[in-house]
Amino acid sequence: MLNETQLSNGSTQNEQTKPPQTVLVAEDDAVFRRVLERQLKNWGYEAIVVQDGTEAWEILQQPNSPELLILDWMMPGIDGLELCRRIREKQEDRYQYVLLLTGKDEKEHVIEGLNSGADDYLTKPFDIGELRARLRTGNRILALQRELIQAREALRFEATHDALTGLWSRGAALHLLGSEMQRGARANASTGILMIDLDHFKNVNDTYGHLTGDEVLKEAACRIGQAVRSYDFVGRYGGEEFLAILTNCTPADLRMVAERIRTAISDLPIRTKTADVKATVSIGGIVASKGAHDLEFLAAADSALYEAKRTGRNRVVIGKCEPLPVLDENFKCSSGIAHA
Ligand code: GH3
Ligand code: MG
Ligand code: MG
Ligand code: MG
Repeated sequence: MLNETQLSNGSTQNEQTKPPQTVLVAEDDAVFRRVLERQLKNWGYEAIVVQDGTEAWEILQQPNSPELLILDWMMPGIDGLELCRRIREKQEDRYQYVLLLTGKDEKEHVIEGLNSGADDYLTKPFDIGELRARLRTGNRILALQRELIQAREALRFEATHDALTGLWSRGAALHLLGSEMQRGARANASTGILMIDLDHFKNVNDTYGHLTGDEVLKEAACRIGQAVRSYDFVGRYGGEEFLAILTNCTPADLRMVAERIRTAISDLPIRTKTADVKATVSIGGIVASKGAHDLEFLAAADSALYEAKRTGRNRVVIGKCEPLPVLDENFKCSSGIAHA
């Protein structure tokens, strides 16, 4: 939270925030423009001053445009009310605080201004002290908005990511797989998946303890993440099992990435606080056949993984995607896979 402690030069901590906060001023009256610009600079703000709504709108469409806005109601071109409406329609992932300047005659229409999306208003000619206080209020609201957005983003991340490894959660990975297969079908591109399972991982826990096991899981997840291509997705599918989703993927790509993952784990023991742990993975891979259902796809990757385990572990088996004979609706839903 911002602290409003008074500083020796009379400005507040809010107004001293580094880098200086930028305020966009749109005002067609030259005298008001000058007064606003001078005062804002005195209070430590950076001011972008324009003389009509059209210019203001151009600035507002740029990325990272100012969050604190002082808009005159009556201006040639786009007026302050219309600007407010457009700002609220933009629905960005951040908030812009609007202080509307109204003439005396317009005061009776203040409700209209607030309904259009303005946060506050000041009637001209305004008191400089009042303007300053209202800007501080705007800053406080913006700080709260930023905190809310950060909290929401953190919640969103927690809901879709595995807490131990930071990879996509099982639910999120299945959702991504569903979307990716639909996108692939539209674009006539193949999707590949790899089911990756740590070999004899129970022995790691039994030998070194669960905490060391966790460290091994984290490092294995990190190596898998580094071995896939930048546009692929990796999720934690179960305890010591991971799912990689490879977009626009040929069978050759799939095998290459799978081998890269396998050797990334097997070539170098995993250093933990208690021991250097040798680990290997078995990998079952599959490239989706045209029109394949994502459940058929997962089942085929699972069979390939089973085959890799059965034939000795620390190996890659690329399987075939056979259509499943029957899929009833309830089964589809319980998988948690998103369907159009
Ligand atoms: P296989 O080669 O056949 O896959 O053998 P495995 O021992 O890896 O397979 P199994 O399914 O018998 O055991 C998996 C182990 O993974 C057992 C379980 O305690 C461990 N495990 C699952 N989740 C976690 C976790 O979050 N942390 C730790 N430390 N261990 C986990
Ligand atoms: Mg005006
Ligand atoms: Mg295992
Ligand atoms: Mg397993």
